[in-house]
Amino acid sequence: MNIRTRLTLLFVLLVASILLLFSVSVYYLYDQFRQQEFEQRLEEKAFTTVRLREDVGEVPQADLPVMADEQITIYNDRGLVLYNQGNQRPRFPISPSFLRKVTLKQSRYVRLGDIEAVGVRYKTQRGESFVIVASGNDRYGFSKLDRLRQILIFGWILCLFIVGIAGYLFATDALRPVAELIAQVNAISATNIHERLRVGRQRDELADLARTFNALLSRLEEAFVSQKSFVSHASHELRTPLTVMMGQIEVTRLQARSTDEYEVAFDGLLDEVKNMIRLVNGLLELARASADAATLNYQPVRIDELLWQAQSQIIQKRPDYQIDIDFENLPSQEEDLVIVGEESLLQTAFQNLMENGCKYSPDESVLVRISFEPGQIQLTFTNQGHGIPATDLPHIFEPFYRSESTMTIRGHGIGLALTQRIITLHRGKIKVESTIGKETKFRITLPIANAPSLDTGSAVAATRVLQQG
Ligand code: ADP
Repeated sequence: MNIRTRLTLLFVLLVASILLLFSVSVYYLYDQFRQQEFEQRLEEKAFTTVRLREDVGEVPQADLPVMADEQITIYNDRGLVLYNQGNQRPRFPISPSFLRKVTLKQSRYVRLGDIEAVGVRYKTQRGESFVIVASGNDRYGFSKLDRLRQILIFGWILCLFIVGIAGYLFATDALRPVAELIAQVNAISATNIHERLRVGRQRDELADLARTFNALLSRLEEAFVSQKSFVSHASHELRTPLTVMMGQIEVTRLQARSTDEYEVAFDGLLDEVKNMIRLVNGLLELARASADAATLNYQPVRIDELLWQAQSQIIQKRPDYQIDIDFENLPSQEEDLVIVGEESLLQTAFQNLMENGCKYSPDESVLVRISFEPGQIQLTFTNQGHGIPATDLPHIFEPFYRSESTMTIRGHGIGLALTQRIITLHRGKIKVESTIGKETKFRITLPIANAPSLDTGSAVAATRVLQQG
C-alpha cells in the first residue's frame, strides 16, 4: 500500500471515528432528553387525573390530551386499584415492589419496550395516600428519535465519502514534492554526481530531507573522487617500479653480460619486486581495514605484547633501527593492558609508526611510551628529525600523500592512512604533533577491554583470556 492510500485511509478512519463518537453522543443525549420530557408529561398526567378525581369526583376524558396507549391507574396505599382509565385491566404490569419503591420515593420510572411508566405519590387533604401510575407510548418522541438516527447515519456516510475524496486530494497534494524529489534523485548517477536537489525556500521536513540528501551526495562525491584518485595513485605507484624493472631488463639484454653484471641487475630487480610486494601488501591491508568491522576477528590482546612483537619484527628486517619501549606509569591491574582488537591489524599499525619513526629520523631511532588512563591506554611514538611542515599535517593521513620534505626517502604514502583506519576501527584516536627541525610525535589512545563503553561480550572474552593466561 503506498503512502497516499495509507494517508487517505488513515484520514478517513480518523474522521469516521470522531464523527461516529459525535453522532452516538448526540443520539444518546437526545434519547435522554426525550425520556425526561415524556416522564414529565406522564407525571403531569398522573397528577391532573388524581386531582380531577378528588376535586370533581370523575375524570372527564374528552378534556385531557390523550397519549398513545395511555393508561392511568390509581392505587391505594394497600396496592388495590381504585381507578383505572377506561375501567380496563391495567395493560402495563406494575409489580408490588415498584409500587413500594414509589411510596418510598426510591424510583418512579420503568420501561417495557415502547411503553414507559411513571409512578407518583399523592396525599389528599384528608390524609389518604395514593400511588398513581401513568404509562403511555411516546410515539411522537420515538419517531423524532428514529428520524434523528436516519439523519445521523446518512450524514455519517456522506461525510465519509466527502472526507475520502478530500483526503485523497490532500494526500496527493502533500506528496507532490516527494514525487518531485524522487524524480530529481533518479536523475542523479555516477556521471553527474556533482548535481544537487533543489531545496527551495521552504523550511519544512521535505526541505530538510533534500538538504540531508545533498549532504549525503557531497560525502558520496568526496568518496567517489578519492576512490578515483586512489585508483590512479595506486596504478601510478605500481607502474613506476614496473617501468624501472622493464628498463633494467631491456638495458641488461642489450648485450651479453658477465655473471657479476647479471647479479647486480637481478639485485636491482629483486629490490623493485620487494618494493612492489610491500606496496601490494599495504594496499591489501588497507582494503582489509576498510572492510566492515563485523567481519574482523576481534580478540582480547595485550598491548605491551603487541608492541614487543612489532619491535622484534622490525629489528629482524632492519637491525640498525633502534626502538625503545618505555612505561610512563604502571597499570593498576593487569586487565588495563588488554584491548579488544584484531591482532595482525594492530601489529601493522604499530610497525608502521615504529618504522616511520626510524625512517624519518637521522639517528634511526624511535621512542614508544605507554601510559595508562582511566578506561584507556595512550601510546606515543616520538622521533627526532626534520619534522612535518604545518601545511602537510592535515593531509598526512590521506592515502598516497607524502610530504615534499621527505621525497628522498623511499615510501608509498599509505602507511599512515592504513594506521589511522586501523586505530579508528578499534574505536581509538590518532593525533600528530610535529616541530620542524626537532621532533614528531604520534599519539594514539585506545579503549581498554573492560572500559565501561565496551560491549559485555568483548569484556567477558577479555577477562576469560586474562584468567587463562
Ligand atoms: P610513507 O612513509 O610510505 O611515505 P606514510 O603514510 O607512512 O607513508 O607517511 C606519510 C608521510 O608522512 C611521509 O611521507 C612523511 O612525509 C610523513 N611522516 C610520517 N611519519 C613521519 C615521522 N615519524 N616523522 C616525520 N615525517 C613523517
